[in-house]
Amino acid sequence: MKYSLPELRYPAESLAPVMSRETIDYHYGKHLQTYIDNLNRMIEGTEYEDMSLEETVCKADGGIFNNAAQTWNHIFFFDSLTADRKVMPAELEVILKDNFGSAENFKKEFSSACTGLFGSGWVWLAMNSEGKLGIYKESNAGNPMKSGLKPIFTVDVWEHAYYIDYRNRRAAYVDAIWEIVDWDVILRRIRQAK
Ligand code: MN
Repeated sequence: MKYSLPELRYPAESLAPVMSRETIDYHYGKHLQTYIDNLNRMIEGTEYEDMSLEETVCKADGGIFNNAAQTWNHIFFFDSLTADRKVMPAELEVILKDNFGSAENFKKEFSSACTGLFGSGWVWLAMNSEGKLGIYKESNAGNPMKSGLKPIFTVDVWEHAYYIDYRNRRAAYVDAIWEIVDWDVILRRIRQAK
């Protein structure tokens, strides 16, 4: 098996009440595991067996793309979260101010993209080739890497991401998620993308 479920960086119960242990058990432990299992099965004996996950996301289509991108997107999403209730670093505040007017306005625009995305998908903060940050809505397994952008942060807005804790209230889930974002990780990714 080429791919396996990575260890979470935090205890499964530590994001509660924003994200419950039950959501982590199902979303991380079962949904993500299924994408990984499907991907391993589908790439067997194909050229994708020798490619990195990023390369597979960029080159594949159909079922291999869907499962590779869902694998990449989920690992990236869960890596962006923390139980430590972090304060946004001043350097990141300045970057968000330059790109979105203010950090608060970034959150507002990102949240409204999350509630405005119809159906299943992902909302992304990504950097273009000029170093400019933007908010991008992608349906289903979509990933802005495929369009040459560099992903910085994402929120999963598939119903399975919030239905256990928030039922149908996607807006409440998105409002709450800001409490568990690891701003240090976001800043590190911006520095690396430049
Ligand atoms: Mn998901």
